[in-house]
Amino acid sequence: MRHEQRDRAWAVLNLENLRHNVRELQKLLPAGCSLMPAVKADAYGHGARMIAKTLWETGIRDFCVASVEEAVELREWGISGQILILGYTPPVRFEELVRYELTQTVVDLTYARELQAYGRRFTVHVGIDTGMHRLGERSDNRENIFRFWELDNLHITGVFSHLCASDGMSEEARSYTRKQIEDFDGIVRELYERGIGGFKTHLQGSYGILNYPELSYDYARVGIALYGALSSPHDRPAADISLKPVLSLKTGLVCVKELHAGEPAGYGPAFTAEKEMKIGVLSIGYADGIPRELSNRGHALIRGRRVPVIGRVCMDQLLVDVSEIPEARAGDEAVFIGRSGGEEIRAEELAEEAGTIANEILSRIGRRVIRRAKKLNSY
Ligand SMILES: *Cc1c(COP(=O)(O)O)cnc(C)c1O
Repeated sequence: MRHEQRDRAWAVLNLENLRHNVRELQKLLPAGCSLMPAVKADAYGHGARMIAKTLWETGIRDFCVASVEEAVELREWGISGQILILGYTPPVRFEELVRYELTQTVVDLTYARELQAYGRRFTVHVGIDTGMHRLGERSDNRENIFRFWELDNLHITGVFSHLCASDGMSEEARSYTRKQIEDFDGIVRELYERGIGGFKTHLQGSYGILNYPELSYDYARVGIALYGALSSPHDRPAADISLKPVLSLKTGLVCVKELHAGEPAGYGPAFTAEKEMKIGVLSIGYADGIPRELSNRGHALIRGRRVPVIGRVCMDQLLVDVSEIPEARAGDEAVFIGRSGGEEIRAEELAEEAGTIANEILSRIGRRVIRRAKKLNSY
């Protein structure tokens, strides 16, 4: 499969698949619940600009990111909807929250008071810790939670929490999740009972949607599922939904050479040929997001066939065994995530070989990997 190679390594984004995933996820959620996509970490490595712009075109107006820098970038790209910063913003950057009209997560009462003392009016969502024990005021500190509404510089437009076991299907995981849901609902109810309202609610990330689609809040903070991936290839979500992968990760075969029996290849050397072989050099490495864990164990697709990674993955290059593909030539395309002929490698599969989850693999695709939108009618 020859191609016009321009770049060392590139990611092809199928934006039609992204639009498909938006429609599928939206269909799954109750009416009145809208998606608030997580476009943090450069949209899970996909390229936040292209992803956010495409989501905007589908009608999405609410986004979440991890940091104030990510939020400001979205504004600079013309995203004018609601942008919620899920992480902590330090006081030296409070001014940017105001200037760019960003929505900040209140991580606890101490932080709420810092915002209040700054003397400007901030739009915020209150984070509640219902059991993940990361950000948010602890749900059992009810009195602290109610105090947020006494701080007149805080314009509270949302209340949210985060599920930490919604991907688990064990009875233990499900009962922990149910406890988190009840806890969150209890707080919302008590706020209403005290006459406090006017805020939106959200609790679910991707697995919260896929395993608890019946829940009905104002937003769902969807991340990995929007990109058409699950965390692990063994996950079987409760919801019947067809998601399509958005990203393919490709590189080129830059040379093919013989390796004689007994000769080593790569650093270490961690690999020695047991027989006469033909090996290929690919222009992608761990700085591009191919984990070094895949040394002597990963796979790529060349000309519709699966070839093993041999030796250690280097920073910029790696080696594959192409002995079974006599027609392999420099200039061939090699696929790490995506399709080639009838074969496919999913991000989940690559992640499992590397001992991690697809979220990590995608979000660590290197900066020098060129992101390009897939042209219609090309494969
Ligand atoms: C990243 C993140 C999400 C999205 O998570 P996915 O599992 O990728 O859908 C949702 N909520 C919070 C608080 C997050 O940090």
